[in-house]
Parts: sequence; structure tokens; C-alpha cells
Amino acid sequence: MNIVILGQQGSGKGTQAALLAEKFDLEHIDMGKTLREIALSDTPLGREIYEIQNVRKTLVSSKILREILNVKLKSIPLKKGIVFDGAPRTLDQVKYLEDAMLELGRKIDYVLFISIPEQESIERASRRRLCNNCQAILVMGKIIKKENDRCPKCGGEVSQRKDDTPEGIKKRLEVFKNETMPVLEYYEKEGSLIKIDGMQPVKKVFADIIKGIKRQRLS
Ligand SMILES: [Zn+2]
Repeated sequence: MNIVILGQQGSGKGTQAALLAEKFDLEHIDMGKTLREIALSDTPLGREIYEIQNVRKTLVSSKILREILNVKLKSIPLKKGIVFDGAPRTLDQVKYLEDAMLELGRKIDYVLFISIPEQESIERASRRRLCNNCQAILVMGKIIKKENDRCPKCGGEVSQRKDDTPEGIKKRLEVFKNETMPVLEYYEKEGSLIKIDGMQPVKKVFADIIKGIKRQRLS
């Protein structure tokens, strides 16, 4: 089973992707995390991704995504399913992912969209912090209480993502509207989009996802 999970920043798609990976024993490809990790490396690709994420605040090109996905996809045994979190974000990337999957004898079975209102997205993203060590996403006021708190998972230093400033968040929402909305419309037309209300507790969102998958399987 191969699943794509889409949603605005702060929609909780990372959490849900992790839950899906656990329940169905899937490989969780977290594109944002993968890119952030590469961005820390002192290589031409690392520097390019850093600049795109923190200076230009746009999406990485399909070419870069292609290179990374290629390496990732080939490293996963065919019998193991995948949950894609954070890709594809553009129609270009959809096309590439479909081709790459087909080549490997895989296909996307379910596309989930976890939807939250724009205002909620801004509020959640501004509360988000990142562990500099294990890259865990931590929510201010929930997992950590004060700005100087350490990561409860590994004790690492915690900071705000460089692009989680109000203008960075707004910019990414705009990119979502312009680039990712067409992806949602594409899957909607195909009849494979499962829409989930992200304004519910984590457990309820997950229950809705499981229901949506079952319903889709039967249709
Ligand atoms: Zn940590």
C-alpha cells in the first residue's frame, strides 16, 4: 500500500503519516525532514536546498526532488509500502512521482488531504519548534513550555525553524494555494482524494483516515 498525505503546514500530516507507517508497516518518507537534513550538509546540493528553504522560501525544484526521491525509492524493498509526507507538492512532482513509481512496479493507492483553515495553519506553525539534534517537531505550550526548554526526546537544543516567521508562514501558505491546490484538484478529478477534517483531535483524525481508506477500497 502506497499513500500520499497532503496538508497545509500545521495540519498534523507528519503525525498522521507516522501513525500510518506504524499501523501498516510502511516506510515514512518525510520530504521536509529529508530536505532539512540535506540542507545541513556542506555540499552543493545542501547549500542549494538551504538557500531555497531559508532565503527564497519557495519549493525545491522538481529536479532536486527527483534526485532525492530516486535514491530513496530504490532503497526501499518492493514489498514494503510507502507513505509520502510532503511530496508531491506540484503537478510536476505528481507526474514525476507517478512515472518513478510505475517504473518500480508501484502505484499510489490513496491520497489523503488533511484540511485546516488558513488562520489555524498560521497559529499552529508559529507555535512549532524544531529540535536541532533529532529534528523532532515540538509544539510550544504542549511538548515544551518555555523558549529555552530542551528536546524531551533527546535533550537537544530547540529552536524555531528559520522559515516559521509570520511572513515565512504566509509565503508558504501562498505557495500551497498556487502550487499544491492544483495537485489536490488533480486527485479529486481522478476520484482518489480522501478529504479529512484536520480540526479534530489526533486520534479522531486518524480514525477518519482509516475509515476513508476502507471506503475507498470498497468503491
Ligand atoms: Zn531531539
